[in-house]
Amino acid sequence: MQYISTRGKAEALDFAGVTLTGLARDGGLYVPAEIPVLSADEIRSMRGMSYAEIAFIVIKPFVVGSVKDADLQAMLGDTYGDVFRHSATAPLAQVGVNDWYLELFHGPTLAFKDFALQLLGQFFDHFTKEHASDKKLTILGATSGDTGSAAIEATRGRENVQIFMLHPKGRVSDVQRKQMTTVREDNVVNIAVDGTFDDCQALVKACFNDLAFRDQVNLTAVNSINWARVMAQIVYYFTSAVALGAPDRRVSYSVPTGNFGDIFAGYIARQMGLPIAKLVIATNSNDILARTLKTGRYAMDGVSATLSPSMDIQISSNFERLIFDLVGRDADQVQTYMDALNTSGAFSLSENESAHLRELFAADQVDDTATLNIMHRLYKETGYVSDPHSAVGFQAAQTCLHGAEPKITLATAHPAKFPEAVRQAIGVTPELPAHMSDLFDRPERMITLPSDKSALMTRITKGGWLNGDNP
Ligand SMILES: *Cc1c(COP(=O)(O)O)cnc(C)c1O
Repeated sequence: MQYISTRGKAEALDFAGVTLTGLARDGGLYVPAEIPVLSADEIRSMRGMSYAEIAFIVIKPFVVGSVKDADLQAMLGDTYGDVFRHSATAPLAQVGVNDWYLELFHGPTLAFKDFALQLLGQFFDHFTKEHASDKKLTILGATSGDTGSAAIEATRGRENVQIFMLHPKGRVSDVQRKQMTTVREDNVVNIAVDGTFDDCQALVKACFNDLAFRDQVNLTAVNSINWARVMAQIVYYFTSAVALGAPDRRVSYSVPTGNFGDIFAGYIARQMGLPIAKLVIATNSNDILARTLKTGRYAMDGVSATLSPSMDIQISSNFERLIFDLVGRDADQVQTYMDALNTSGAFSLSENESAHLRELFAADQVDDTATLNIMHRLYKETGYVSDPHSAVGFQAAQTCLHGAEPKITLATAHPAKFPEAVRQAIGVTPELPAHMSDLFDRPERMITLPSDKSALMTRITKGGWLNGDNP
């Protein structure tokens, strides 16, 4: 399978190439040159299969030429076996007459990001060993919360990989910080940056845009612009739809959305032949996507802090992948839109593109008050304790979906990751699962750096955790 950039100027790469590269060198995002389609019979054959078995059927066409079948099977078995603490890996919980939560929080860091990052960690290991390079892969990322811990958990102790994870000092929750900084392997370096999340992201971007530095340390990205992450997330659309009757029954999804990675995976699942009636983009009050659907204009409008912080974004980086399809895969048109976004903070879709967008998706914006209300209602009516991100999705499903097909909301985080919001909504503090109950007793380790590109580059060049680093 070949992958091409949405901006049309970077070279086409195979799966190994896009996995190790992350962002295309022309600033675009890699997408498959063509989308594989599964027949109704192939989808029907998934009934009764394990998560790893279905993952093999879904993922195989995307990695042909880069990963041997037996290796893929082994990696999927390792990733979706014992690492997830539920035998169904991604179980469905019924929470209404025609409503289901797809629980994606049974992985090691309690958010859906484990599904993709655990597999990405396997691929990094596999490709670096195969290419027998003596140069380590350097992962650099910025996190406002869930990505950092999931990426660290997926790469800790891996021989050929080192990871530097930036977070804004004092601005991530205690659970989120502890999940990152209590990891003791020497290939993990947590960096608290004196600044905001935007400062952290700007630093990461500056490092990636310095192509000499990028090559010198063999830099790669783990944020959701990495195609392998999107690919891994396609699988649970198949497992859940098949469990509820696909391909002989249509289903709809509501997806708590930030960077548009998770819901874009649903869009690909539909392209692959899964009968999805509607995909709902559920946003909190940072609603650039909901506004775009309504007005056809994609316009930046600042960020405000909400009870669902993992969706507090100004722009959604994966949306560029959808735009690429909306404009008929015309890379020059994508470049024109992205230039306008950079210079004036906005661009407008054509009538046709807007109409197509609305045909594929619905969208709803759910503010904090509505989030707390629906968490409270769910708890009273069913006893279900929902985290605030998942609740945004559930409320949007109620607003946007009115057909007879099953409504599946992606439950993207475990409620114990956001204890304050849960207590505020239902008066009960959710408990961390047993394997994490001592999280607050584990010692932390991180370094602090100013928001300064050269200080960061100097530290990265020195490699993994050093004795001279302050503990
Ligand atoms: C990352 C995250 C999201 C947003 O997912 P995107 O793929 O960025 O749209 C939603 N909920 C939780 C809990 C997350 O960690």
